[in-house]
Amino acid sequence: MALSSFLLRSLTRARYGLARLEGRRRANALPSKHRGPLNPPFLRAGVCDICEELVVFRAEDAWFRDRLHCTNCRSIPRERAFMRVLKQSVPGFAKLSVHESSPQRRRGLSVRLARDCPKYTCSHLYPDIPLGQRHPKTGIRCEDLECLTFPDESFHLFVTLDVLEHVFDAETVFKSIARVLKPGGTHIFTVPMVNKFKPSRARAERLPSGEIVHHMEPTYHGNPSTPAKRSLMTWNWGYDITGRIADWTGIRSVIVQVDDIDAGIRAALTEVVVSQKTSV
Ligand SMILES: [Zn+2]
Repeated sequence: MALSSFLLRSLTRARYGLARLEGRRRANALPSKHRGPLNPPFLRAGVCDICEELVVFRAEDAWFRDRLHCTNCRSIPRERAFMRVLKQSVPGFAKLSVHESSPQRRRGLSVRLARDCPKYTCSHLYPDIPLGQRHPKTGIRCEDLECLTFPDESFHLFVTLDVLEHVFDAETVFKSIARVLKPGGTHIFTVPMVNKFKPSRARAERLPSGEIVHHMEPTYHGNPSTPAKRSLMTWNWGYDITGRIADWTGIRSVIVQVDDIDAGIRAALTEVVVSQKTSV
């Protein structure tokens, strides 16, 4: 323990200098919803669940959810929370067939899954590519979560990281994912649970004509794979999502909240949902 502590301190001092470390205690006391620049930046040494090595976590903004990066793999807290939950829920995941929808291919979790899982595949929804075909430039398959083209029971593990707050027909999406899971397979995902104990609410709906009706002020998240480079947020999810998934698919889910600042996991809206299809 003493040696480990010494190594942590030495690593951090060597990379960033003692003076900057003084700021981290102040930053660490900030509530997780706080936003705004941190000067000096927040710095903390620890073991990253994705790198699985000693690293430094760094944030220049108090909104840790998107800004507390591992300086080695560039992951953010919800990705590290996801990996912690994945390792505990599906210990042999690296040998399994894994599909990720809308991966963040330049950093963190998606990079690790693609590297370590020989049976990893991924897809994006490209508006101008037929479903089931590959994008000519990226080589990534085009898939729509509302009507996946994969055969039934294709995957042991289905991964979505902050995707399901952007779908219109959530019931069809969860049924579609359940269909392509093998018996005993698992869908693990993150969505911002902004409604927490309040009921989930649709922010927008798509009429049969294709027209979109907004029930709340439109909010967008960045999405480089779409022509507009952004996606409309369609759901404010709450913890009742597990009941909805059960009603729609018969699959039981649990919500896991990880808080482990020594592993760079501390931020608002980092709940991980684990939905495991029963074995037949
Ligand atoms: Zn890392």
